[in-house]
Amino acid sequence: MSSSPASPLPVAIIGAGITGLTAAWQLHRANVPVVVFEAAAGPGGAIASTRDGDWLWEAGPNTMLESTAEVAGFVDAVGLGGRRVYASETANNRYVVRDGRLVAMPTSPWGFVRTRMFSWRAKLGLLGEPWRPRSAADAEETVADFVVRRLGQEFLDYAVNPFVGGVYAGDPRRLSVRHGFPKLHRLEQEHGSLLRGALKRRNTSGGPKGRIFSFPGGLVELPRALASALGGAVRFGTRVDTVRRTAAGWEIVSRNGSSPRTEAFAAVLCALPADALAALHFDGVPGADRLATLREIEHPPVASVFTGHRREDVAHPLDGFGLLMPEVEQHRVLGVLFSSSLFPGRAPAGHVALTTFVGGVRSPELARLDDAALTKLVREELAGLLGVRGEPAYLHIQRWPRAIPQYTLGYGRHKELFAELERASPGLHFGGNARDGISLANCIESGRRLAKAVS
Ligand SMILES: Cc1cc2nc3c(=O)[nH]c(=O)nc-3n(C[C@H](O)[C@H](O)[C@H](O)COP(=O)(O)OP(=O)(O)OC[C@H]3O[C@@H](n4cnc5c(N)ncnc54)[C@H](O)[C@@H]3O)c2cc1C
Repeated sequence: MSSSPASPLPVAIIGAGITGLTAAWQLHRANVPVVVFEAAAGPGGAIASTRDGDWLWEAGPNTMLESTAEVAGFVDAVGLGGRRVYASETANNRYVVRDGRLVAMPTSPWGFVRTRMFSWRAKLGLLGEPWRPRSAADAEETVADFVVRRLGQEFLDYAVNPFVGGVYAGDPRRLSVRHGFPKLHRLEQEHGSLLRGALKRRNTSGGPKGRIFSFPGGLVELPRALASALGGAVRFGTRVDTVRRTAAGWEIVSRNGSSPRTEAFAAVLCALPADALAALHFDGVPGADRLATLREIEHPPVASVFTGHRREDVAHPLDGFGLLMPEVEQHRVLGVLFSSSLFPGRAPAGHVALTTFVGGVRSPELARLDDAALTKLVREELAGLLGVRGEPAYLHIQRWPRAIPQYTLGYGRHKELFAELERASPGLHFGGNARDGISLANCIESGRRLAKAVS
């Protein structure tokens, strides 16, 4: 097949999660023809919001962070700016459990001085942070070692450990600060101190303030809008088996039903999680057999348990984002989102909705409990932490056997592999949460990067 200027070959995008759809949408807007292959029946990948009467639950991600002007601008450009619902003001209140009780994280310097979250010793120790030496630029350190070195053990136990449990379902003793929290790593490298760097950024940053948002129909509105703008270019129920490099460019062998179909493309963008990428067959791509090593990336299981309750059955005011659980507290949940306090329209009148996360690297076995045992665990934890009584009015359990890639020490070898394969095979590109970061904002940036690489 030849690629004449009148009918250029399309770009193939594998995966209609947020990464692939973002890449496809960017290219489509620039008049580059695309075909998106998606094995599932609908768009969104990990993003899956379900409305059931007046209940609305998220099976996967619950919130998106407007972390950069690009992310904000992207949502506007897709036409969803007017539908964005920011988290309510009360969501600024974030609870962490200390000595069995919920304590609100301080949000101001004065709040920090007064909080009972940290001891006086820990608070005073923070004053020395700007004078602690930075690590060597090429050193690789765990998040735990980094935090203890700069901020002290209590900040690891009561701020960073619960945060890492909430974001990665991970363990700070295993995650790499350079790869898992690159902004934190850069802050130290560029400013010599986290406090100095944070203050400087606060004074100079003119971008959005990092607000959290969703949509009235849940996060799935975004992939749906992207897929609908792409129309027939997205092929649902179509799994890619083989990516082949040819003399003229690229071929994709896909399967919708039983019979395989082979088509030619100008370039191939892979927007897949690590295990899906490791399962693809690559022909004529030097080094692609090494993608099997992506199976080494740890993805702990997580159960996300959405429960609805009558308002009078919950003693806590639920005046916040939710609670995070430090590992040292010996509870059995990673955290609880106060879903109906975060966004309107998540529970019927007179009711509240909670989303409890169980499992992660901390306790993978709990995520694998059967439904009855998991429900019992969640009910006991919610009773103890939030004073929840009685049977839930609504219950949905979502299991993620391989939830989130852990950017552990040495993760650079996986990133380097992607870069090597791209260098060896022009027109083949990799993005998504195995390479560019795990948050939805990271994935949007990843999709934009993929699109730029071929346009
Ligand atoms: C429980 C949970 C909670 C989370 N919470 C948050 C949160 O609150 N905020 C946040 O920012 N992030 C959160 N995340 C992370 C975030 O949701 C993911 O990192 C992100 O959605 C990944 O998007 P993606 O497009 O890269 O991959 P995916 O969403 O995994 O999409 C990949 C797509 O590729 C398809 N596919 C796979 N193999 C093939 C094939 N061979 N052929 C064709 N198609 C294929 C899959 O069906 C899938 O649709 C959460 C993740 C989980 C699991």
